[in-house]
Amino acid sequence: MDRTLLLNASYEPLLVISWQRAITLLVLEKVEVLVNYEREIRSATASILLPAVVKLVQRVRQRQSAVRFNRTSIYARDRHQCQYCGDQPESEGELTYDHVQPRSRGGKTTWTNIVTCCVPCNRKKGNQTPNEAGMALLKKPVKPSWLPVVGKTLLTRSTPELWRPFLWRDQAA
Ligand SMILES: [Zn+2]
Repeated sequence: MDRTLLLNASYEPLLVISWQRAITLLVLEKVEVLVNYEREIRSATASILLPAVVKLVQRVRQRQSAVRFNRTSIYARDRHQCQYCGDQPESEGELTYDHVQPRSRGGKTTWTNIVTCCVPCNRKKGNQTPNEAGMALLKKPVKPSWLPVVGKTLLTRSTPELWRPFLWRDQAA
């Protein structure tokens, strides 16, 4: 655990920085700590908990960009987790995407009709609706308002648990 998640003053994730950088920013009073790791750093004179998530005191302007609709964004939204069985395979090669309402039956390729799916579930579901296949969705797919600029690699298993509450916000429907 040597990385710190830096949030904007408005709580959007901005960057992943080293904990050394985080402590420098803290000393300069540019950031405040939201969550600490349990690990302590000791210097000759003091000890400090390693910051896991820090937030800028002053908001920085960020280029607003819409979330691109593509496979990477879909996987990131769904945290690389099959939305039917909940499996989170090690490699992206074991994932695909699924049209909830099958394409052959008028299902569109949109945020609200595409979900991350493991290959076995995708085969099993075939051209059926979730109802017909008896496969319930873990959650209703939504169009996200933003994806963390910190990137898709952070939304995998290796993401520190302490970061998760800050990484993602769904837009209501
Ligand atoms: Zn599955």
